Amino acid sequence: MNSKQIEKISVKLEIREDKSYDIHIGGGILERIPGEVKDAGLAHRFAVVTDSNVGPLYGESLLEGFRKAGLDTHMIAFPAGEKNKNRDTKAWIEDRMLELTMGRDSAVIALGGGVTGDIAGFVAATYTRGLPCVQVPTTLVACVDSSIGGKTAVDTPHGKNLIGSFHQPWRVYIDIDTLLTLDEKEIREGLAEVIKYGVIRDEELFSFLEKNMKAVFSYDKEALGYTIRRGCEIKADVVERDERESNLRKILNFGHTIGHAVENLSDYGMSHGEAISVGMVAEGRLAAEMGLWSGDELARLEALVKQAGLPSQVPESMDARKIIDTMKLDKKSRGGRIEMALPGSIGRMAEIDGSYGIRVDEPLIVQVI
Ligand code: NAD
Repeated sequence: MNSKQIEKISVKLEIREDKSYDIHIGGGILERIPGEVKDAGLAHRFAVVTDSNVGPLYGESLLEGFRKAGLDTHMIAFPAGEKNKNRDTKAWIEDRMLELTMGRDSAVIALGGGVTGDIAGFVAATYTRGLPCVQVPTTLVACVDSSIGGKTAVDTPHGKNLIGSFHQPWRVYIDIDTLLTLDEKEIREGLAEVIKYGVIRDEELFSFLEKNMKAVFSYDKEALGYTIRRGCEIKADVVERDERESNLRKILNFGHTIGHAVENLSDYGMSHGEAISVGMVAEGRLAAEMGLWSGDELARLEALVKQAGLPSQVPESMDARKIIDTMKLDKKSRGGRIEMALPGSIGRMAEIDGSYGIRVDEPLIVQVI
């Protein structure tokens, strides 16, 4: 072969891997986890990764259950909070696992809210090139959203969730009893996502929340159980049909295009749920202006977010132009034009030319904000 000649060698890979998994929901589920992972022969060693709040509440007893089942298990608890969902914490967890000489025969148990699920899931995705991960969500957000779908990530100073990977869990265990120690604020955070599910996919869930909001806030197990089950079913269904976000999965972004911009501009003074709530109402107004859904449906959405104690207005101090500029930097804008998932009615998202990403004109955004 002379030096100018180029040869091509193809590496043909056809990996058909079944990445299906089950979500177990109910009361007292934490106690069943050790026995079930043991019976399944999931791994020989386990790292229960949790945060400093959830560790003392549920980590110690889970650890004890694993040890009683004769499984070599260690708990690794990092300081709670979004500010710790970063590369340093990921490296710190990995170093603990390395010091414990955990190898490829290990598995990660992610016990906690979305921060824990994201960071522990990402550790599992890369540690010795990938370990099985069991998601054990303990906040409403984590139960109905972050534990399902396989997205894992950490934040960087340049933005949230910028470094991560897709890593589907081996199984998700939702123990409703763990939600009883959550404060109201965390229930509200999760409700913002559940209200979104009602709008994008399930009128019945939406009406259920209209009638049972009080029961949810009273930690009524039946109401919480139904809310979580429907939330999981909807997220699972959407993710199943569009694992890599080519079209349908875009509907999960309802409220998030304006919501993310508002969250960023508030310098995270606004919580994610609050920002999404404001985003859903603003995007709902856009849909009404564009004739995609009715004013009555918009009014129902506004009333429901208020019932959940969530805000419905973009803060007055926030400039519409800045919100638009921030949206343009977002992953969801294409070629400088802003696209959003917009509702066609409560329970169904609008589609234009077969796409759920609908282009929206900037002057209209300024008008509704
Ligand atoms: P979080 O994990 O910080 O939990 C909120 C607070 O509740 C924390 O202080 C935590 O220690 C505490 N807590 C957790 N469970 C508890 C319990 N049962 N009782 C008492 N306190 C408890 O935050 P979150 O709201 O659960 O999740 C937000 C994170 O999830 C964000 O980082 C977000 O990016 C991520 N997220 C990821 C996805 C995804 O698809 N991967 C989807 C949505 C959100």
